[in-house]
Amino acid sequence: MENTTKNDSVKVGELEFPPRKVWMKTYGCQMNYHDSERIMSHLSGMNFTKTEEQSEADLVIFNTCAVRDLANQKFYSHLGETKKLKTNPDIDPETGLKKNVIVAAGGCIAQTEGKDLVQKYKQLDFAFGTDVIDNIGEMVYRAYAGEKKFTVTAWDRSDNYSIETKITQGTPQAFVNIIKGCDKFCSYCIVPFTRGREKSRRLAEVVTDVKRLVEYSGIQEVMLLGQNVNSFGKDNGESLGQLIMELEKVNGLHLLRYTTSHPYDVTDDLVEAHANSKKLANHLHLPVQSGSNTVLQRMLREYTVEHYLSLLAKMRKANPEMVITSDIIAGFPNETEEEHQQTLQLLKDAQFDNIYAYAYSSRKGTKAARMNDVLTDDIRGRRLREVMDLQLSIQAEIRRGMTGKTYRVLVDGKNINKGVQKWQGRTSCNRIVHFEPANPEQDYMWNWVDVEITSATALSTQGTLIKEYGKTL
Ligand code: SF4
Repeated sequence: MENTTKNDSVKVGELEFPPRKVWMKTYGCQMNYHDSERIMSHLSGMNFTKTEEQSEADLVIFNTCAVRDLANQKFYSHLGETKKLKTNPDIDPETGLKKNVIVAAGGCIAQTEGKDLVQKYKQLDFAFGTDVIDNIGEMVYRAYAGEKKFTVTAWDRSDNYSIETKITQGTPQAFVNIIKGCDKFCSYCIVPFTRGREKSRRLAEVVTDVKRLVEYSGIQEVMLLGQNVNSFGKDNGESLGQLIMELEKVNGLHLLRYTTSHPYDVTDDLVEAHANSKKLANHLHLPVQSGSNTVLQRMLREYTVEHYLSLLAKMRKANPEMVITSDIIAGFPNETEEEHQQTLQLLKDAQFDNIYAYAYSSRKGTKAARMNDVLTDDIRGRRLREVMDLQLSIQAEIRRGMTGKTYRVLVDGKNINKGVQKWQGRTSCNRIVHFEPANPEQDYMWNWVDVEITSATALSTQGTLIKEYGKTL
């Protein structure tokens, strides 16, 4: 689409786009947040700016998640509420005209149920899937050209996956997507159906992309993203370990993280990268899901508990500062009490710094959803509580060991608790640390600081400011 400016409007194709506002709600994982940022960057070229107030919006976009039950329910409830935007639209104070609010839904739910959504919800103008994010401009154009009730959920069939990272936030942190899709087909997961097959970007392209972000956008911390980042480069004879060691050479890049990992694809060169890279975070999120080999088999996870624990040992040997976090699903279909106890044992053996634990909930279209399941919600709830209680006691003990140590953090927020203002940042090992400012007037946002930990519990870490470096190291 060709853009020319005239007064405050932007001409796109045959249409004038006056300044408009977009309200966007993102659910779910970091991949969705990355996609939303991409959507926003395309829309800014069509004269849209972001608003936090839905009532001000000309365009409302939901970027949905099909993985978590709660995110699912929230989306349907929020979508239902947009009916009033159409039936009772605000009057634009400048033109005195009724606003023509356009409502769209994208992301994982829209990928699989887009057509049904558009039919069922009168207020929904269009739905779009996960592989057409970069076509959002055309869809918005079609909507403003008067087209209603359409769905775009095509898959990109090309062999190449080539993009340039778009950022709109103006912060020194960026998400950089390196692989899309997933070939694993875990029996409980809908992602391979909503995100398609794995496709990696080329290593050289990612390195050029990150260099550009560092040089021209002041990015200092990069999160490499993918549903299974450990599969990066498999088709091209490249690997995540190689990519990390290439990014190690980028001047001005200070911190590198990656998520999400699958234990099956943790290779020796990735372990070596953790030993050799100075920029790679001292943190690995390695979802295990269960401590029972029989449950892992039913989940189609392709590894055993013994293999998983051997990976943790290798990683900790490669980098003794390494902090490991994980995911647990409590109450997978037909999980026996013994299998549940094996998960509790795994928590003791693995010594995770933190876990994301969920009670299993069924996802339509998956193999697990077709299992004849005997567990009740009460059993699942009880097992989830037991997992969380044990984990909290383990992590309280681990985190007590932080007291007296000094950590470098990039300050990314502040909050006021009981009248006391505190700043917060994330350590290289992914723990959030709060500290009181030495000078209450000083703005520490996006500054690098060293903080000595004065107290740490399972859920909170407090410290004292030791040293300030300013906005770059
Ligand atoms: S690895 Fe398994 S859980 Fe993760 S996205 Fe792929 S199918 Fe889903």
